[in-house]
Amino acid sequence: MSSDCLFCKIASGALSTEFLLETDHVVAFHDLNPVAPTHILVIPKKHIASLADVQVQDRELMGEIMLAIRDLAKNQALDEGFRVVANTGTDGGQSVFHLHFHLLGGRSLQWPPG
Ligand code: AMP
Ligand code: ZN
Repeated sequence: MSSDCLFCKIASGALSTEFLLETDHVVAFHDLNPVAPTHILVIPKKHIASLADVQVQDRELMGEIMLAIRDLAKNQALDEGFRVVANTGTDGGQSVFHLHFHLLGGRSLQWPPG
């Protein structure tokens, strides 16, 4: 855990955030500023700064995150489809430097993004 990282605090339960899903290694919670009817963040409990910082030994964890996203999409009834986004680094528009995947759905999403 990185003591000055917002998402480490959320993952540890220090901010009493409602979790939509929790496993030994992963948590999911509502985005504070939703941009779609469903906007959930899925994060590892372990501090990894971004997708660019994932290590080979994180591969099982990365698989767990993807399966969590699959389960959430099902639980949230995103039967018409959804989008998964990992903004990475400055050009990717990342603002919180703890790896997170946005799960977006509940409306028709446009492409390409800005
Ligand atoms: P990104 O810009 O891809 O790094 O995404 C960071 C996301 O975290 C944004 O969509 C914010 O709305 C969201 N966010 C920031 N602070 C919080 C918080 N305390 N709880 C939930 N979501 C947050
Ligand atoms: Zn962190």
